[in-house]
Amino acid sequence: MKNLDPEFCRRVKSSRREAGLTQGQLAAEVGCKQSALSMFEQGDGTKLSDEAIDKLARKFNLPLSPTGDSASPPSGVQPLGRLAGGLLNSGFCPNPHCPANKEYFVEEMRLFLPDREAADPVGGKYCAMCGELLERKCPSCGAAVHAGAICSLCGQPYISAL
Ligand SMILES: [Zn+2]
Ligand SMILES: [Zn+2]
Repeated sequence: MKNLDPEFCRRVKSSRREAGLTQGQLAAEVGCKQSALSMFEQGDGTKLSDEAIDKLARKFNLPLSPTGDSASPPSGVQPLGRLAGGLLNSGFCPNPHCPANKEYFVEEMRLFLPDREAADPVGGKYCAMCGELLERKCPSCGAAVHAGAICSLCGQPYISAL
């Protein structure tokens, strides 16, 4: 499932432990692989089918959306992307097919200009447009990401065309 609240994954993990179930047992119950459940519990909501997630939500009586949930993040927690100079800390979406990335060409080289505000309006973990895990560093050299499509340190594009 895309755009799944990572908090849901954490709650599945703690609920499973409280219920005394192993990952293997729970995976068999909802019909997924143990390895997929393991990655899901680490916050990767794309690893399970919507159906399996739905079963988890009903089994443990967990809300799928943080809205209307009394245990949602306390007010006063600042979204990362808005701290110290606006978008400095925001991520970009590494998915070249994502609408947050604008395709353009420089001397026949296909590049993608990440719109970090569109992909990461609140300093989240997943792209707001497509649900992909956001990147906060240059995938080639690990340098901090700046505005633009190409890393100034290593010269590699942030988003590689597939
Ligand atoms: Zn995206
Ligand atoms: Zn780099």
